[in-house]
Amino acid sequence: MTTAQTLFSHIPATSSLLCDAAFQPLLEEFGHSRVVAVLRVLQDEARAQIKREDQLPDWCDNWSHKVHDTLTTHSHSTLRPVFNLTGTVLHTNLGRALLAEEAIAAVSEVMSSAVTLEYSLDAAGRGHRDQTVAALLCEITGAEAACVVNNNAAAVLLMLAAVAEGKEVVVSRGELVEIGGAFRIPDVMRQAGCQLLEVGTTNRTHLADYRRAISDNTALLMKVHTSNYHIEGFTHAVSEAELVTLANESNIPVVTDLGSGSLVDLTQWGLPPEMMPQQLIADGVSLVSFSGDKLLGGPQAGIIVGKKSYIDLIQQHPLKRALRADKMTLAALEATLRLYQHPETLIKRLPTLRLLTRTAEKIAAQASRLQPLFAHRFGTQFTVSVDLCLSQIGSGSLPVDRLPSAALTFQPKDGRGSSLVALSQTLRELEYPILGRITEGRLWLDLRCLEHEALLLETIAL
Ligand SMILES: *Cc1c(COP(=O)(O)O)cnc(C)c1O
Repeated sequence: MTTAQTLFSHIPATSSLLCDAAFQPLLEEFGHSRVVAVLRVLQDEARAQIKREDQLPDWCDNWSHKVHDTLTTHSHSTLRPVFNLTGTVLHTNLGRALLAEEAIAAVSEVMSSAVTLEYSLDAAGRGHRDQTVAALLCEITGAEAACVVNNNAAAVLLMLAAVAEGKEVVVSRGELVEIGGAFRIPDVMRQAGCQLLEVGTTNRTHLADYRRAISDNTALLMKVHTSNYHIEGFTHAVSEAELVTLANESNIPVVTDLGSGSLVDLTQWGLPPEMMPQQLIADGVSLVSFSGDKLLGGPQAGIIVGKKSYIDLIQQHPLKRALRADKMTLAALEATLRLYQHPETLIKRLPTLRLLTRTAEKIAAQASRLQPLFAHRFGTQFTVSVDLCLSQIGSGSLPVDRLPSAALTFQPKDGRGSSLVALSQTLRELEYPILGRITEGRLWLDLRCLEHEALLLETIAL
């Protein structure tokens, strides 16, 4: 026999491995089909290595260990919980808002039971799936009617398609924004079958610009919240209130894509001001859309509030069926909105507001508590300090405003950028990955979003 043939004969048969005592716990934990699937891949890998290098891979002396390793690494490769110490509270790539306990409980209840999603117990007939949530949204915002879809991008598409298909939509040049990904207002208009009519300039748009643009073919005047950028200097924009007065002369609606849409006045906690949907409804805007998982602090959802006649058009549009929210989203949103009925306990119970309102002093005290433990683990290579920093709200909310916060910072003693990259890699590879950010020659762990301090300590101690 050649060396290769001898080595091939050292690769055990699947059936004999499965009878091995070491494989019994694996079969129990991961199931027969997954263990066999991994074994096949590993056997192929071993054969390939023999062909390439005339030797068996090292792990061939312990197949059960290798299978266990592979299966646990794979089971980690999906959605993993991480410590968001990036300093951005509503981080789109990390799933934005954390749900309140009440919302989590509501979701888990509807997950395991049949529910009255489109069923009214009184009439024993078919109800409307947005009904309960819509009633709460109307109560909070003062709107006549409301509708919930998968996210705000869907809400914007649906408003345009239902109210303006085949007609013109007037938008200021300063508001033709890209939100991120492929969501750009001009493209969404095209998808919804509307014609975009740009008015004004990038920095200045006046009421007269809108007035000149209105014709028999105008379906609506649209405002888009420039949530993720800010222009300063010689600027002018027309408010919704002014637009409504103009639009009423021609009996056309004003529609606003508000983006974040906080349902409470954030300035009461010293946070920067953010336009609320209730203000726009009071100004006479016909439809306002916003996200469920930005400042509202709920599940991913797109919310449309406004005049009943337009919401009815939206509810009947075929795209509504394609974009509708599921029972878990509706349950989480309903429970979140109920928290707004008790404004005095809101900042304790709603994680988004709880995190946004943590003071720099509290966060700095937490950083000082943790500093010695991090210094113990990383102190040979890094100077670990407590430093003040600025957090961001994120998700395009209030892009220029920053919240005073505190961070643990790591400065490499060898002064090398590569040491920082290696450290951030080490932190990302922990059992519970820790995500920070590198800037100014240091790694920063902004502790604003650290609520599970004990878990972090455990992660670091391992
Ligand atoms: C965030 C945002 C959107 C997109 O909302 P999603 O809920 O992420 O789909 C659309 N418009 C504006 C102005 C936004 O800020």
